[in-house]
Amino acid sequence: MTSIATNLQAVNARIAAAAKACGRMPGDIQLLAVSKTWPAECVAEAADAGQRAFGENYVPEGSDKAATLAERQLTWHFIGPLQSNKTRLVANAFDWVHSIDRLKIAERLSAQRDVGRPPLNVCLQVNVSGEASKSGVAPEEVAALAQAVSVLPGLRLRGLMAIPEPTDDLSVLKQRFGQVRALRDALNGEGMALDTLSMGMSHDLEAAIAEGATMVRVGTAIFGARA
Ligand SMILES: *Cc1c(COP(=O)(O)O)cnc(C)c1O
Repeated sequence: MTSIATNLQAVNARIAAAAKACGRMPGDIQLLAVSKTWPAECVAEAADAGQRAFGENYVPEGSDKAATLAERQLTWHFIGPLQSNKTRLVANAFDWVHSIDRLKIAERLSAQRDVGRPPLNVCLQVNVSGEASKSGVAPEEVAALAQAVSVLPGLRLRGLMAIPEPTDDLSVLKQRFGQVRALRDALNGEGMALDTLSMGMSHDLEAAIAEGATMVRVGTAIFGARA
Protein backbone atom coordinates (compact mmCIF):
# COMPACT_ATOMS: atom_id res chain seq x y z
CA MET A 1 0.00 0.00 0.00
CA THR A 2 1.08 3.58 -0.59
CA SER A 3 1.46 5.88 2.40
CA ILE A 4 -1.66 7.82 1.35
CA ALA A 5 -3.67 4.58 1.34
CA THR A 6 -2.23 3.64 4.76
CA ASN A 7 -3.00 7.09 6.15
CA LEU A 8 -6.56 6.95 4.82
CA GLN A 9 -7.07 3.63 6.55
CA ALA A 10 -5.79 5.11 9.81
CA VAL A 11 -8.03 8.19 9.55
CA ASN A 12 -11.08 6.05 8.78
CA ALA A 13 -10.21 3.94 11.85
CA ARG A 14 -10.03 7.13 13.99
CA ILE A 15 -13.45 8.19 12.68
CA ALA A 16 -14.94 4.77 13.45
CA ALA A 17 -13.44 4.73 16.95
CA ALA A 18 -14.65 8.27 17.69
CA ALA A 19 -18.15 7.40 16.47
CA LYS A 20 -18.32 4.24 18.58
CA ALA A 21 -17.08 6.15 21.64
CA CYS A 22 -20.17 8.35 21.54
CA GLY A 23 -22.70 5.81 20.27
CA ARG A 24 -22.86 7.03 16.68
CA MET A 25 -22.69 5.01 13.46
CA PRO A 26 -19.32 5.43 11.65
CA GLY A 27 -21.24 5.59 8.36
CA ASP A 28 -22.96 8.79 9.49
CA ILE A 29 -19.66 10.67 9.30
CA GLN A 30 -18.21 11.44 5.88
CA LEU A 31 -14.50 11.97 5.35
CA LEU A 32 -13.53 14.92 3.20
CA ALA A 33 -9.88 14.60 2.10
CA VAL A 34 -8.38 18.10 1.97
CA SER A 35 -5.95 18.01 -0.95
CA LYS A 36 -4.96 21.70 -1.12
CA THR A 37 -1.31 22.17 -2.21
CA TRP A 38 -1.01 18.51 -3.24
CA PRO A 39 -0.88 17.59 -6.94
CA ALA A 40 -3.56 15.68 -8.85
CA GLU A 41 -1.38 12.53 -8.62
CA CYS A 42 -1.89 12.48 -4.84
CA VAL A 43 -5.65 12.88 -5.25
CA ALA A 44 -5.60 10.01 -7.76
CA GLU A 45 -3.71 7.86 -5.25
CA ALA A 46 -6.35 8.57 -2.59
CA ALA A 47 -9.12 7.87 -5.11
CA ASP A 48 -7.48 4.53 -5.97
CA ALA A 49 -7.70 3.73 -2.26
CA GLY A 50 -11.44 4.41 -2.30
CA GLN A 51 -11.68 8.07 -1.23
CA ARG A 52 -14.40 9.95 -3.18
CA ALA A 53 -14.76 13.46 -1.66
CA PHE A 54 -12.01 16.09 -1.81
CA GLY A 55 -11.70 19.59 -0.34
CA GLU A 56 -9.81 22.51 -1.88
CA ASN A 57 -9.11 26.07 -0.64
CA TYR A 58 -7.79 27.86 -3.69
CA VAL A 59 -9.98 28.45 -6.74
CA PRO A 60 -7.66 27.93 -9.73
CA GLU A 61 -5.79 25.06 -8.08
CA GLY A 62 -8.94 23.22 -7.08
CA SER A 63 -10.79 23.69 -10.35
CA ASP A 64 -7.71 22.58 -12.32
CA LYS A 65 -7.48 19.36 -10.29
CA ALA A 66 -11.21 18.71 -10.67
CA ALA A 67 -10.88 19.12 -14.46
CA THR A 68 -7.78 16.90 -14.65
CA LEU A 69 -9.55 14.11 -12.75
CA ALA A 70 -13.02 14.66 -14.22
CA GLU A 71 -13.43 11.11 -15.56
CA ARG A 72 -13.05 9.70 -12.03
CA GLN A 73 -16.37 11.23 -10.94
CA LEU A 74 -15.09 12.51 -7.60
CA THR A 75 -16.98 15.03 -5.44
CA TRP A 76 -15.29 18.43 -5.04
CA HIS A 77 -15.84 20.71 -2.05
CA PHE A 78 -14.68 24.32 -1.92
CA ILE A 79 -13.73 25.10 1.71
CA GLY A 80 -11.62 28.27 1.51
CA PRO A 81 -12.35 32.00 1.62
CA LEU A 82 -14.27 33.06 -1.50
CA GLN A 83 -14.14 36.46 -3.19
CA SER A 84 -16.92 37.62 -5.47
CA ASN A 85 -14.72 37.76 -8.59
CA LYS A 86 -14.11 33.99 -8.26
CA THR A 87 -17.68 32.79 -7.79
CA ARG A 88 -18.36 31.95 -11.45
CA LEU A 89 -15.61 29.34 -11.57
CA VAL A 90 -16.54 27.90 -8.17
CA ALA A 91 -20.26 27.72 -9.00
CA ASN A 92 -19.62 25.09 -11.65
CA ALA A 93 -16.26 23.44 -10.87
CA PHE A 94 -17.42 22.33 -7.41
CA ASP A 95 -20.29 20.26 -5.99
CA TRP A 96 -20.22 21.90 -2.54
CA VAL A 97 -19.16 25.22 -1.00
CA HIS A 98 -18.62 25.20 2.80
CA SER A 99 -17.52 28.80 3.28
CA ILE A 100 -20.59 30.96 2.64
CA ASP A 101 -20.41 33.89 5.05
CA ARG A 102 -22.42 36.60 3.31
CA LEU A 103 -25.49 36.84 1.12
CA LYS A 104 -23.78 38.53 -1.82
CA ILE A 105 -21.52 35.50 -2.41
CA ALA A 106 -24.47 33.12 -2.13
CA GLU A 107 -26.54 35.15 -4.59
CA ARG A 108 -23.72 35.14 -7.12
CA LEU A 109 -23.15 31.38 -6.79
CA SER A 110 -26.87 30.75 -7.22
CA ALA A 111 -27.14 32.95 -10.30
CA GLN A 112 -23.97 31.54 -11.87
CA ARG A 113 -24.67 27.81 -11.36
CA ASP A 114 -25.33 26.38 -14.83
CA VAL A 115 -29.01 25.88 -15.60
CA GLY A 116 -29.88 22.18 -15.76
CA ARG A 117 -27.38 21.12 -13.12
CA PRO A 118 -28.52 20.14 -9.63
CA PRO A 119 -28.29 22.96 -7.09
CA LEU A 120 -24.87 23.63 -5.55
CA ASN A 121 -24.73 22.24 -1.99
CA VAL A 122 -23.71 24.93 0.49
CA CYS A 123 -22.90 25.35 4.16
CA LEU A 124 -22.74 28.60 6.09
CA GLN A 125 -19.39 29.17 7.80
CA VAL A 126 -19.96 30.26 11.40
CA ASN A 127 -17.41 32.23 13.39
CA VAL A 128 -17.56 30.52 16.77
CA SER A 129 -14.27 31.94 18.02
CA GLY A 130 -15.15 35.63 18.02
CA GLU A 131 -12.13 37.91 17.76
CA ALA A 132 -9.78 34.93 17.42
CA SER A 133 -11.07 34.20 13.89
CA LYS A 134 -11.89 36.53 11.03
CA SER A 135 -13.88 34.24 8.76
CA GLY A 136 -17.50 33.31 9.08
CA VAL A 137 -20.84 34.83 9.96
CA ALA A 138 -21.42 35.79 13.61
CA PRO A 139 -23.60 33.27 15.49
CA GLU A 140 -26.36 35.85 16.04
CA GLU A 141 -26.56 36.47 12.27
CA VAL A 142 -26.76 32.82 11.20
CA ALA A 143 -30.57 32.55 11.23
CA ALA A 144 -31.13 35.56 8.97
CA LEU A 145 -28.44 34.45 6.50
CA ALA A 146 -29.82 30.88 6.49
CA GLN A 147 -33.31 32.17 5.68
CA ALA A 148 -32.03 34.28 2.80
CA VAL A 149 -29.78 31.54 1.36
CA SER A 150 -32.41 28.81 1.67
CA VAL A 151 -34.65 30.43 -0.96
CA LEU A 152 -31.95 30.86 -3.64
CA PRO A 153 -32.86 28.53 -6.52
CA GLY A 154 -29.32 27.57 -7.56
CA LEU A 155 -28.28 26.51 -4.06
CA ARG A 156 -29.28 23.83 -1.59
CA LEU A 157 -28.51 24.82 1.99
CA ARG A 158 -27.13 21.70 3.71
CA GLY A 159 -25.78 22.93 7.02
CA LEU A 160 -23.06 24.75 8.94
CA MET A 161 -19.27 24.71 8.88
CA ALA A 162 -16.81 26.00 11.46
CA ILE A 163 -13.07 26.23 12.13
CA PRO A 164 -12.44 26.90 15.83
CA GLU A 165 -9.28 28.74 16.82
CA PRO A 166 -6.30 26.34 17.15
CA THR A 167 -6.13 25.06 20.72
CA ASP A 168 -5.22 21.90 22.62
CA ASP A 169 -7.89 22.66 25.22
CA LEU A 170 -10.48 19.96 24.66
CA SER A 171 -13.15 21.79 26.68
CA VAL A 172 -12.82 24.88 24.45
CA LEU A 173 -13.04 22.73 21.29
CA LYS A 174 -16.14 20.95 22.56
CA GLN A 175 -17.74 24.26 23.49
CA ARG A 176 -17.10 25.62 19.96
CA PHE A 177 -18.33 22.50 18.15
CA GLY A 178 -21.29 22.23 20.49
CA GLN A 179 -22.28 25.80 19.67
CA VAL A 180 -22.35 24.95 15.95
CA ARG A 181 -24.57 21.97 16.61
CA ALA A 182 -26.90 24.05 18.78
CA LEU A 183 -27.23 26.62 15.98
CA ARG A 184 -28.07 23.87 13.49
CA ASP A 185 -30.61 22.34 15.88
CA ALA A 186 -32.24 25.76 16.37
CA LEU A 187 -32.58 26.24 12.58
CA ASN A 188 -34.08 22.77 12.20
CA GLY A 189 -36.46 23.59 15.03
CA GLU A 190 -37.67 26.50 12.94
CA GLY A 191 -38.49 24.26 9.99
CA MET A 192 -35.21 23.82 8.11
CA ALA A 193 -33.82 20.38 7.32
CA LEU A 194 -30.07 20.84 7.64
CA ASP A 195 -28.24 17.50 7.55
CA THR A 196 -24.62 18.64 7.59
CA LEU A 197 -22.21 19.76 10.31
CA SER A 198 -18.82 20.27 8.63
CA MET A 199 -16.36 20.41 11.52
CA GLY A 200 -13.20 18.68 12.69
CA MET A 201 -9.76 18.49 11.08
CA SER A 202 -6.63 16.31 11.53
CA HIS A 203 -6.00 17.33 15.14
CA ASP A 204 -9.55 17.67 16.49
CA LEU A 205 -11.82 15.30 14.56
CA GLU A 206 -12.59 13.22 17.68
CA ALA A 207 -13.95 16.26 19.56
CA ALA A 208 -15.98 17.30 16.50
CA ILE A 209 -17.51 13.83 16.11
CA ALA A 210 -18.41 13.77 19.83
CA GLU A 211 -20.31 17.02 19.22
CA GLY A 212 -22.18 15.79 16.14
CA ALA A 213 -19.97 16.40 13.09
CA THR A 214 -21.31 14.70 9.95
CA MET A 215 -18.34 15.68 7.76
CA VAL A 216 -14.73 15.97 8.89
CA ARG A 217 -12.19 17.81 6.72
CA VAL A 218 -8.79 16.11 6.97
CA GLY A 219 -5.63 17.12 5.12
CA THR A 220 -2.38 16.60 7.02
CA ALA A 221 -3.26 13.19 8.48
CA ILE A 222 -3.87 11.86 4.94
CA PHE A 223 -1.40 13.64 2.67
CA GLY A 224 1.30 14.72 5.16
CA ALA A 225 2.48 18.15 6.33
CA ARG A 226 2.03 20.93 3.78
CA ALA A 227 5.08 22.93 2.67
C1 LIG B 1 -6.55 23.05 5.40
C2 LIG B 1 -7.93 22.91 5.91
C3 LIG B 1 -8.36 21.72 6.50
C4 LIG B 1 -7.46 20.54 6.76
O1 LIG B 1 -6.61 20.79 7.85
P1 LIG B 1 -5.58 19.68 8.40
O2 LIG B 1 -5.15 20.23 9.70
O3 LIG B 1 -4.48 19.60 7.41
O4 LIG B 1 -6.32 18.41 8.52
C5 LIG B 1 -9.69 21.64 6.89
N1 LIG B 1 -10.55 22.66 6.71
C6 LIG B 1 -10.16 23.81 6.15
C7 LIG B 1 -11.16 24.92 5.97
C8 LIG B 1 -8.84 23.99 5.74
O5 LIG B 1 -8.47 25.16 5.21
